[in-house]
Amino acid sequence: MPVRYSNCKVWLGYGLGFSSSLTVDGAQIVANDVAVDAEVDCEGKVIIPAFIDAHAHPVLAGREMFGPEVSDCLTILQIQTAVATWMQANPESHWVVGGPYNRSISPDGTFSAGWLDAVSTTHPIVLHADDHHTIWVNTLAMQLAGVVPGAPECLVPGVDVDSTGSPTGTFRESEAKNLILHRIDAGLVSADSDAISWAHATLLEHGITATFDAWVDKELAESYASAAEHALLRVNTKLALWLEPEKWRNQLSEAQQIRSRISAIKSEFLEVTSVKLFVDGVLGSATAAVTEPYLSTGEYGTKFWNYAELKEVCRAATALGFGLHLHTIGDAAVSLALDALEGIAQDLREQNLLSPVLVHVELLRDDDLTRIREQKIRVNLQPLWSRPDDLLNSCRVHVGDRADRLYRTRELVDNGVSVAFGSDWPVSSVNPFLGLYTAVTRRLPGADETQNPDQSISLEQALMAYTSEAAKQTGLAGRESLLPGMKADFLIISEDPFTDLEALPRTKVLQTISGGQTRFARH
Ligand SMILES: [Zn+2]
Repeated sequence: MPVRYSNCKVWLGYGLGFSSSLTVDGAQIVANDVAVDAEVDCEGKVIIPAFIDAHAHPVLAGREMFGPEVSDCLTILQIQTAVATWMQANPESHWVVGGPYNRSISPDGTFSAGWLDAVSTTHPIVLHADDHHTIWVNTLAMQLAGVVPGAPECLVPGVDVDSTGSPTGTFRESEAKNLILHRIDAGLVSADSDAISWAHATLLEHGITATFDAWVDKELAESYASAAEHALLRVNTKLALWLEPEKWRNQLSEAQQIRSRISAIKSEFLEVTSVKLFVDGVLGSATAAVTEPYLSTGEYGTKFWNYAELKEVCRAATALGFGLHLHTIGDAAVSLALDALEGIAQDLREQNLLSPVLVHVELLRDDDLTRIREQKIRVNLQPLWSRPDDLLNSCRVHVGDRADRLYRTRELVDNGVSVAFGSDWPVSSVNPFLGLYTAVTRRLPGADETQNPDQSISLEQALMAYTSEAAKQTGLAGRESLLPGMKADFLIISEDPFTDLEALPRTKVLQTISGGQTRFARH
């Protein structure tokens, strides 16, 4: 029963121009001269393809949503108050897990366990930082995890210790964080179903009908599988399973089992497509691998993989049919990843898989930009990171004026590299219109200051990164445009950003249509 959306301005896709109506038959777009049973008057509104968030962590967002929310806090006192208030309202919760806190509140990035002990010494407290590579905990959480003065756990890299060797309460990167996080996994699967339901409703409200969860461990994969079995998924979800140095051989055989388990569910919404590797850390903690030393530490950050092992894991995962999603933030990490991918170029050619994706790519050397183009590597960027805000400023003490050269979006796009966008939610806002606005202006709404404005791209290019290129990167067919034959995944939006870019930050999704069905409508 075809339906025509008429009296609208439909952006058909990059370079395809506009039409004044869109006709849908079932889950597909059909030609506008097809006879229809019903007509929807769009009252002159704009229609664009639905968004695909090609790098996000929706369940982490959901988990944080159900704990104390401290993202707007500007002082330690405000954080203490927010946590205490949440604990009063949730007395049944033993572990208190929330976030994300703004790391720029403490200039040296160290958050003391004592500050959270002032809130509670009877409940373990864990707060995630806004980079999601760092946690801050109270003393009880450390005691439960065996991280006490003099214990060997204090020697794990990434466990902050003071001059006496006592842990401060700040834990950086997975190995250190897992000392704590592995204590709180029990009972998470049932809590995750709430987190997933909330996250998917939120994604649809923001016009996102497909997402790529870029950091999935065994427990989280089980949460997704269980949600799929209970028909809780509402957004098409691709998963990247996390592999770690040294442990990856076992994890890769587990990954095969997880992939089989999930494909047996036959959910139209869930598929394991890729593996995720962290090649380095983040600039804000001076853990991203860089070619010039950090101003703050005089060091070069951390490469989590050496060349031989990285090449080996990429080859092994490729042979098993997994796509590669590689976290690379510093320029040295990008070089290392490209070296490894060059080393398996033949294996990649023989596989009919998703092309490898380098994600974040904050610092990029000229010759690596050329190699990315020549090796046909895809790049996934977080548009909201390329504006002068606290997240960017937290890097400045470490990288100095290199902060002005971050995110070479335009050069990548102009060189024909496939660039897709991902929010990295909850690291950054899930709202794609804010991401689009940043990509085209490189500034905060209403502000004058810009970040590396030569690297801004056009609205059409930015939309492409959030729609058709994101589809290619995540392996979604039928999402290249809104031409006949494509999937009926589109949005009716409140403003016309094609005539006024400044309307982007206030643009709202009025309706999200996925597979021809209205999945969200604003009242
Ligand atoms: Zn991420």
